[in-house]
Amino acid sequence: MTAQTHTFQTVQQMDANDPLAHLRDRFDLPADTIYLDGNSLGALPKGVMERLQKAVVQEWGQGLIRSWNTADWYPAPQRTGSAIARLIGANNDEVVVCDSTSVNLYKVMVGALRMRPDRKIIVSEQGNFPTDVYINAEVAQMMGYELRCVAPEDVEKAIEEAGTDLAAVQLTHVHYKTGRIYDMAGITAKAQELGGLVVWDLAHSAGALPVDLNGCNADFAIGCGYKYLNGGPGAPAFVFVASRHLADMHQPLTGWHGHAKPFEFTQGFEPHAKIDKMLTGTASQLGLITLESALGVFADVDMTALRTKNMQLGDLFIALVEQELAGMNFDLASPRNSENRGSQVSLTHADGYPIMQALIARGVIGDFRTPDILRFGFAAPYVQFIDIWNAVRHLREIMETGEWDQPKFKTRQAVT
Ligand SMILES: *Cc1c(COP(=O)(O)O)cnc(C)c1O
Repeated sequence: MTAQTHTFQTVQQMDANDPLAHLRDRFDLPADTIYLDGNSLGALPKGVMERLQKAVVQEWGQGLIRSWNTADWYPAPQRTGSAIARLIGANNDEVVVCDSTSVNLYKVMVGALRMRPDRKIIVSEQGNFPTDVYINAEVAQMMGYELRCVAPEDVEKAIEEAGTDLAAVQLTHVHYKTGRIYDMAGITAKAQELGGLVVWDLAHSAGALPVDLNGCNADFAIGCGYKYLNGGPGAPAFVFVASRHLADMHQPLTGWHGHAKPFEFTQGFEPHAKIDKMLTGTASQLGLITLESALGVFADVDMTALRTKNMQLGDLFIALVEQELAGMNFDLASPRNSENRGSQVSLTHADGYPIMQALIARGVIGDFRTPDILRFGFAAPYVQFIDIWNAVRHLREIMETGEWDQPKFKTRQAVT
């Protein structure tokens, strides 16, 4: 089988046939930039600036403290959670937005382990995102559990080996480096058969793929507001607790916003009966308002169509890398089959860091993950097929001319 040869014209035609092409107009993107890093920081949706301006000038500046009631600030964590629920296959009252992904992971892990006090083992992945690894290790040590981190292909075996000692499994649904997708339904079922609970990190899934938490009978999940959900730098995160577990969930950060009656100011902690129990303290209100406004982008979007497009973008990228960059020592670090790959493609190259810096200098923005991974994210709402064509063309020019091989591209910056 010979692969189809792509040309500028055939790729242009893909944009002309794209049923989601109109979504790009919902974003303010800088001219002359090809943005392939929406998996790290989503782009700015139009209208967010105006919403934030109103929140600062009117709601804060004029409304002052009254705005907790009059501008409906107080219910924003639940309201924003409901907007995310649709994207991840949850019920509206199972998701709330608060704190960071890391903090929510801590809350959920401790809560999950408290539900399995007589069991000993946590299964996770070697190479999971560092925050997940660090928090799992700390929680395991603090609570007296054994953390087993294994290679992705050994996760199911490790679950079986843990047997009835399995307390919890914690995995990132779409791997941050490779984009590899775990079988959420299969792993959840396998762990639950043994009586274990599963905590899914949806940082690279929410807003990128149609996640079906309740369809998979998921227990708990957490995820990120500033990646594919476009909530802005450091946007608050979300947490999902299946309604069947709400009564038994005792999360450890018992702040006043998780109390049954915060404004009674009582001394004893009594957890809220609903998802509100996952809250801790006062919301980062401007961050919440930004995220809620940004989610408007998804209001009428069919996640299946969006997923189809990001699979096609990834397939095109891989095909063009093979067509245009043969013999330049790039290797594919992501699954080739788009069904098994999230909304990103990673390449490896020994000179990955300076190559990515040279690309960024040309306005093609991806990112680098140590030791040798060039990561390209394809946020389907605003990435065009022609962007992929142009990105690979730039990459080829950088390689052919040796443009990447300059000292200025080799100094590591704080954020890669
Ligand atoms: C991005 C990411 C996070 C981010 O956590 P923060 O608390 O927002 O810094 C967590 N987990 C995974 C898998 C991620 O990719």
